[in-house]
Amino acid sequence: MPEEREPKIHIENVTYSYGSEPVLRDISLDYNRTIQAAAGANALAALRQAAEENWGNYLLAVEGSIPTKDGGVYDCSGGITARQELEEFAEGAAALIAVGACAFWGGWPAANPNPTGAVGVSALVKDKPVVAIPGCPPIGDVITATVAHYLTFGRLPELDLQRRPLFAYGARIHDQCPRRAHYNAGQYVEKFDDEAARRGWCLYKMGCKGPETYSPCPLIAWNGTTKWPIAAGHPCFGCTEPFFWDTMTPIYNRLPAVSGFGVEKTADTIGAAIAAGVTAGVAIHAVATGIQRARQSKATEVYEESATESEG
Ligand code: SF4
Repeated sequence: MPEEREPKIHIENVTYSYGSEPVLRDISLDYNRTIQAAAGANALAALRQAAEENWGNYLLAVEGSIPTKDGGVYDCSGGITARQELEEFAEGAAALIAVGACAFWGGWPAANPNPTGAVGVSALVKDKPVVAIPGCPPIGDVITATVAHYLTFGRLPELDLQRRPLFAYGARIHDQCPRRAHYNAGQYVEKFDDEAARRGWCLYKMGCKGPETYSPCPLIAWNGTTKWPIAAGHPCFGCTEPFFWDTMTPIYNRLPAVSGFGVEKTADTIGAAIAAGVTAGVAIHAVATGIQRARQSKATEVYEESATESEG
């Protein structure tokens, strides 16, 4: 006889047990396209019923971009478009959580030339508090932690300028990266199969966008904290940053230098400086850190505004 197992529900990369029920005690999953049995008109009816019963109090989690071209015909369910669905249910929400880069900025469907006129929640919902959990894909633990914060404190977490929770997106990947010592030492991978790649050196010259990207990937990762791109030898491509398919590509090229001096120049500059026996890297790092501090200071101001909004 096979061993009888306790029923479980799997949400993103976190598994909860019905038996211990802490999540399903506090969270009503009345509508979820992925796990529900109903489809089409029946699914929409379930969504409307759940919204009516909780009008003004529910969190609306949005996944995916919203096509707006040709009347929004490129994404329909239950006889209405994704845009109509968003507008109808955002009205009764206490707040929205945009899950993934597509949901907040439009993601790859919105990348140039954007044939469906795809946009994210940020372009359509202006009168509600919105939290962005960007990433392609986003990290499941960050989604869970954001919902848990709302359940615990009755308000959204602190947000940065891009409306991302500061607890998760408050630091650059570059400043938390396990390969950072190699960056500082001027030790770079030049090809994916070279000796530096085998040794786990810095991926900056392979186009890594870690210096421009704010995300907790090095600390939380995916699949139970086991996997993330840089650990696998692939450069970060900035998927938590705005419109990254247009702003952070080509993936394997570095971004152009800004104002003639900045972190984009540091790999080459540090390499040359080390060869010359000069500690230019320290000064360059100080500049990058100064930029980061200025950004975080601005983010704190924005957080205070957003905290006031979500409490109001
Ligand atoms: S450039 Fe990329 S691989 Fe190198 S230290 Fe920064 S984040 Fe890590």
